[in-house]
Amino acid sequence: MPSISGSSSPARLKFWGTRGSIAVPGPETLRYGGNTTCVELRADGEIIVLDAGSGIRPLGIALDKEFQAQPMRLSLLITHAHWDHIQGFPFFQPAYDSKNEIRIFGFDGVGTTFRDIITEPMKAPFFPITMRQLSARMDINKLNEMKFSLGKLDIHATFVNHPGVCAGYRIFTSSGSVAFLPDHEPYAFFLHAARGKQLSPTQARQIAADQHGALVQFLRGSEVLILDSQYTDQEYQTHIGWGHGSISSAVSLALEAEVQTLLLFHHDPSHDDEMLDAMVESARQLATRSGSRLEVIGAQQGSEILLEANKIAAA
Ligand SMILES: [Zn+2]
Ligand SMILES: [Zn+2]
Repeated sequence: MPSISGSSSPARLKFWGTRGSIAVPGPETLRYGGNTTCVELRADGEIIVLDAGSGIRPLGIALDKEFQAQPMRLSLLITHAHWDHIQGFPFFQPAYDSKNEIRIFGFDGVGTTFRDIITEPMKAPFFPITMRQLSARMDINKLNEMKFSLGKLDIHATFVNHPGVCAGYRIFTSSGSVAFLPDHEPYAFFLHAARGKQLSPTQARQIAADQHGALVQFLRGSEVLILDSQYTDQEYQTHIGWGHGSISSAVSLALEAEVQTLLLFHHDPSHDDEMLDAMVESARQLATRSGSRLEVIGAQQGSEILLEANKIAAA
C-alpha cells in the first residue's frame, strides 16, 4: 500500500545519485554508485526531491511502482543549473502522468530565469518532448525568499561558493534537520580569486571569513549534512577555484558547525569504490583525531538513512 510517511514516522533519506559532474556507471562504481545527484527525503507527509541528476530516473520508477494508480504530489528543490543536477528530469516518469503534481523550486541563474533553467533543456534540438507536453501538473516556482515552507517543513536556503548561482538548503523536519550542499568550495578560495583584483588581501580575507561564518551559522547543529567532498586534499591543490570541496574541508566545516552526521557527497567521476573507501576512512580519522563524535559516512547510491529523535541509523 503506498503511503507518504506520516508525521509520526521518522524522516527518511534515500540516495539515488551521489556522483558529481557526469554519470559513471560500471563495475568500479557499484557500491558508491554512478548516477549524478538526486536525494529523496520523506518527512512529515512530504516527498522532497533534492536535485534532478540522472539518479532521478530510478527514483521515478520506484515512485510509480509505489503509488501505482494513486496520485502523487512531490516537491523538487534544485540547487543550480549544472547538468549533473538537472539532466535526469526529462526521464522522470511521474512527470508524464496526469494524476501527479510536481512542484519545482529554485533560484534564477546568472542572466537566466529559473523557468528557463528547467524548460530550456527540454526543447529541440536537445530533447524531443517539451515541458508543456508533460502530462503531470507542473508548477515551476522561482524562489525569492531564503526561508519558506512546504507543508509542515521549514526550509532555509543559502548561496554557496560555486560558479554561477548555487544554493544550499536546510530542511527542518520533526525528527531533525538535513542540510544539502552538493556543490561548494571552501570560502578561502576568495583569497585566491582576489589576487591581482581590486580587493586588497585584507578585504578578501575579511569577505571569506564573513561568508564562512555565515555558512557555519546556517549549518549549525544539523543532524545530517550532505556535503561536497569531491577531491582528496592533494587533488584539491590543483583544482582550486573549480567550485568543489575536499575531504579535510568537508570534515572541518562539519566539525565547526557541530553537525551530527556528515555524508561525503558529489563523488568525483574518476574515483572508483576502492578510492572512495580510502577517502571515507581518511575523513573518519580526521574526525576521530579531533576528539569529536562526528559520524562520517560516504554517500552510497541506494542507501537510506533514518532520522529518529536524534538517533540516525542506516536503513
Ligand atoms: Zn555538481
Ligand atoms: Zn555545479
